[in-house]
Amino acid sequence: MSIQQNMVMDSFFEHLKKASASVLFLDYDGTLAPFCIERDKAYPYPGVCALLEKILFSSRTHLVLISGRRPLDLISLLNLPTHPEIWGSHGWERCLPDGTCQIGKIDELCLKGLVEADAWIEEKGWISYIEQKPACMALHVRGMDKNKAVQILQEAKEKWLVLAKETGLQLLAFDGGLELRAPGRNKGTAVETVLSEVGPQTQVAYLGDDLTDEDAFKVIKKNGLAILVRSDFRNTSADIWLKPPEELLEFLARWADAVQA
Ligand SMILES: [Mg+2]
Repeated sequence: MSIQQNMVMDSFFEHLKKASASVLFLDYDGTLAPFCIERDKAYPYPGVCALLEKILFSSRTHLVLISGRRPLDLISLLNLPTHPEIWGSHGWERCLPDGTCQIGKIDELCLKGLVEADAWIEEKGWISYIEQKPACMALHVRGMDKNKAVQILQEAKEKWLVLAKETGLQLLAFDGGLELRAPGRNKGTAVETVLSEVGPQTQVAYLGDDLTDEDAFKVIKKNGLAILVRSDFRNTSADIWLKPPEELLEFLARWADAVQA
């Protein structure tokens, strides 16, 4: 981390120590957990859960997970003693700590588009590469033979671009695949909703790795710290770059200490 980034972090944690309220937004895959070909075995880096538990039990931080996955996936992978708030499916699903969950209402034409995309995937025999979610579907090619992955992504991109044009769906690339998603919600709108419910003095930070986290970075920057968590740097609007797992664990430990002080 550069001297300037260290200074920004030191100043942030000084404010966090004094703040009566804070929100820590965390993406999951690639941020808290290393990528894993078997997605149901993508467990957090060792040490992450213990630190999240500490933060979760502090009354001064509201912990919010924001992922492209469905919320239930994260609950089983994290195995925490109590649920944080979880936004799944890129802002289309919200599950509160008390267990209540809401799903956003999707436009009828987009829904038709997703049904058609699904039928096409089945026709291609690619159903095992698909992750079905409300308002979106993801095609995963991580771990596949490189040529096969390129061919599948290319073919899906061509088909889905046409579908997107016809129905208003959005096509997005992510680390290890391609996603077809209804517009109107994303990780940025999820952050906006949570921030609209907290006081103006609340200290906030968002940690994410992927391109879909950029929407959230742009929103959080107006109020707090946007942090890119990634082994290799890429172009980003985040303020800080942390390399996982060491710098991530250090950040979470500093957060836990600050809100317990
Ligand atoms: Mg991620």
